[in-house]
Amino acid sequence: MHSAYDAIKGSLIDGVGASPGVAIGPVVAVSVEEVELTDLANPIESIGASAARVSAKLKELSTQTREAGRDDAADVLNAQSLMAEDPMIADAVSEQLDAGLAPADAFDAAAEGLAALLASLPDPYLAARAADIGEVMQAIKRDLAGVDSEGLTITEPSILIAHELTAAETAGLDANLVLGFATETGGATSHVAIIARSLGVPAVVGVANLLEVAPTTACLDGGAGAFAADPTADVKQVFEQAAAARASLQLRLDEVTGLKASFGDTPIEVPANIAGTSDIAKAVEEKSDGVGLYRTEFLFLDVPKPPTEEQQFEAYKAAAEAWEETVVIRTFDIGGDKPAEYLNMDEEENPFLGIRGVRIYDLFPDLIDGQIRAALRASAFGKVSLMIPMIATVEEFLSVKSRVVAQRAKLDSENVEMGDIELGVMVEVPSVALNAHRFAEHVDFFSIGTNDLTQYTMAADRMLGSLAGLHDPLHPSVIRLCQMVAEAGNAKGIKTSVCGLAAEDPLAAVIFATVGITKLSVSANSVNLIKATLAAQDQSIRDEVQSVIARAESAQEVREQLGPHVVKP
Ligand code: PEP
Ligand code: MG
Repeated sequence: MHSAYDAIKGSLIDGVGASPGVAIGPVVAVSVEEVELTDLANPIESIGASAARVSAKLKELSTQTREAGRDDAADVLNAQSLMAEDPMIADAVSEQLDAGLAPADAFDAAAEGLAALLASLPDPYLAARAADIGEVMQAIKRDLAGVDSEGLTITEPSILIAHELTAAETAGLDANLVLGFATETGGATSHVAIIARSLGVPAVVGVANLLEVAPTTACLDGGAGAFAADPTADVKQVFEQAAAARASLQLRLDEVTGLKASFGDTPIEVPANIAGTSDIAKAVEEKSDGVGLYRTEFLFLDVPKPPTEEQQFEAYKAAAEAWEETVVIRTFDIGGDKPAEYLNMDEEENPFLGIRGVRIYDLFPDLIDGQIRAALRASAFGKVSLMIPMIATVEEFLSVKSRVVAQRAKLDSENVEMGDIELGVMVEVPSVALNAHRFAEHVDFFSIGTNDLTQYTMAADRMLGSLAGLHDPLHPSVIRLCQMVAEAGNAKGIKTSVCGLAAEDPLAAVIFATVGITKLSVSANSVNLIKATLAAQDQSIRDEVQSVIARAESAQEVREQLGPHVVKP
């Protein structure tokens, strides 16, 4: 938890920060009354009719939400609307009714069964849909019982507390009246969290026994995951100070928005990481310097078949047209934690060390060539670069390069317009960093993926929470590899960027800038924090960084010795 709250720890109920911001005010508890569902004659027909009504309502809410510019929330609601139409819902309930359960129980049992089925699927996207099925089925049940499900009305600015809030309830909240909310269920990546962030409403989820405590007033900090029920004046003061600090940081961030960043005399580009067209608006709003990492594999995942060249072209063109600066398209990084069912790849014991990223391309040449063509065609509409994930050897890079050359020649012969495209390599495997001076002979740029580079350097699975201490990109060995890449690149006049999560850690950003990295690609939310952080530093920090990274034996030492020297914006 944020250190500002350490002094009042005993007065807090811990939760998980879901949407940043501080809220202080009266509490309204949202209680959900049990739905009475007595008779279900013709269950398949009646459930089908209710499901269609629920689906239409969710679709309408999704459209309104999209019109309000909240694409993330709209996507969740749209997915739920499609789910409501699935006949498996009526089938599952009627199976439970046939087994002799009463209607309301049959609904609950069917919802539980379907959620468990989804949760057990290997595809993480589908597994995450388990929560949606429960929400959708509750909505159908309420519709069948004739209960209005849009009952969240509040009349004065308040903090809402609830056991849980559905995506539809959250999306429908009036952001002018809801100061913040807290729920007993949910995690940082739950839909309530996504929607709260898109509404800009502070939220804390996973707050135990919230309704039992039944506060009449509360303070919450959605960045720190802190919740205080019926706060004393002292407790309230700590939250007020946190709110003031946040407001002054926001002022500073507003000041740097749209300005070019630099570290001392060195210009530093701060582009955004995106994963699809719906991320463009936010990154443009934050005035990112283009896109440093377009995670295109998300176009290929959770769909029954891969996107066509045309669909990809439209997606890449939309990004290319949105910025004057470069959009770096990463060729699809399927495999590891991101499998695509339709490729029917063999199960592997160690998927992170298996057929992943570039290693897939020769198995599916049409897929990679189609993507390259789409990117080349998009390059007529803006500045586009391509970079290749999971490269370990120069040969792998050259093999993709020859695909790009071949596709360009083909498109040329078809008289298709194209711009120049730079071709870079992601540095995720230590072999690339160690051999960076050889790669520098062939590549147009380096982009360090610190998430994987750390995983492969420290031999610590990035998905394993218990190894988070080992999986620290500020370990001196990882920093040293980053420095080697930047030095090899700078010696050849080739740009090195960092596009892993570490780039948005202010301390790491200062270290990267010191060791010669001139581009930091971060999530849209962090663009201006990183710009402001670089601007706030006294250049004497460079000596501090060099001396600490030369001596430190652990990531912890780097953090402890350098952290206090980094000036907060
Ligand atoms: C990385 O590995 O740091 C990276 C940016 O790629 P991804 O997180 O998508 O694997
Ligand atoms: Mg990676």
